[in-house]
Amino acid sequence: MSAKLIRGTEIRELILEEIVIEVEKIKKKYGIVPGLVTILVGKNPASISYVNMKIKTANQLGFKEIQDNQPQDISEKKLLAIIEKYNRDDSIHGILVQLPLPKHINEKKIIHAINPDKDVDGFHPVNMGRLMIGGSEVKFPPCTPAGIQEMIRRSGIETKGAEVVVVGRSNIVGKAIAMMMLQKEPGADSTVTVAHTGTKDLALHCRRADILIVAAGVPGLVKPEWIKPGAFVIDVGINKVGEKISEKTGKKVSILKGDVDFDAAEKVAGYITPVPGGVGPMTITMLMKNTLKSLKYQLGIAK
Ligand code: NDP
Repeated sequence: MSAKLIRGTEIRELILEEIVIEVEKIKKKYGIVPGLVTILVGKNPASISYVNMKIKTANQLGFKEIQDNQPQDISEKKLLAIIEKYNRDDSIHGILVQLPLPKHINEKKIIHAINPDKDVDGFHPVNMGRLMIGGSEVKFPPCTPAGIQEMIRRSGIETKGAEVVVVGRSNIVGKAIAMMMLQKEPGADSTVTVAHTGTKDLALHCRRADILIVAAGVPGLVKPEWIKPGAFVIDVGINKVGEKISEKTGKKVSILKGDVDFDAAEKVAGYITPVPGGVGPMTITMLMKNTLKSLKYQLGIAK
């Protein structure tokens, strides 16, 4: 048996097309487009690359995009003032502060300063609380878990009553996707187990999963014998395991591996997401969806 590949690169294109159509409709009717500001502090190469991808996607969709780059030594007070400025700007619907921030800045304080109604990353405690309540309370689900759920929904597999096992309990991935799959809603309504480093027998829990979501950050952690035949395996892990020269560009690029031993796992699983090209591309896509949603809330047309 060879698993069906569920590629984020393909699903992303479908969602981006849907967003473009909606943006054009809203622009025509209301004369406004979604506004996203990306605040980048310092010159961390990984952060620059993430922010550039976000900017590129926002521009491609016809969003208003502001790049607010700040020096590494910006004071916390000044950064808070910048956030407040965008909190009050009606043309900005999403405020994104690229993490990590320099050590002299309290990340929590910065995240808490963002107006929860513009927190399109979904990291603010108010949005985390809304996620826990579920249903119409949820405004901005965190982007990676939202991307995972979208992949599950679009695959058409039954989630009601399914055994979902999540490996990892970070706020932004593990706990959030566990909470989402637990809700009594379409594309969820599952029985959820969350495993972590304190879990006694990880293999035993993984083997029970109809849907196995792995977000541990440990390359090749999940072995093929831990997978129930036919299960949906979602590999969130993005682990840099080396470097190579790209055949396309001739430049040095990272070799990335997931948390699942892909080559062996795809022979057992029913569905599987690759790394790269699986969950990764979904995250920015869902960020754009959240920004559009924020504008729709402002206009009173969000469902
Ligand atoms: P964290 O390091 O914040 O959390 C990792 C979690 O995995 C922790 O809860 C940890 O348990 C658990 N864990 C680690 N090792 C094991 C193990 N051997 N057995 C069981 N549980 C384990 O990572 P994130 O959640 O932020 O990210 C996880 C992975 O997903 C990373 O590879 C990251 O790069 C990737 N990622 C991908 C994204 C994307 O596709 N766009 C976005 C975000 C993350 P404990 O709590 O006990 O320490």
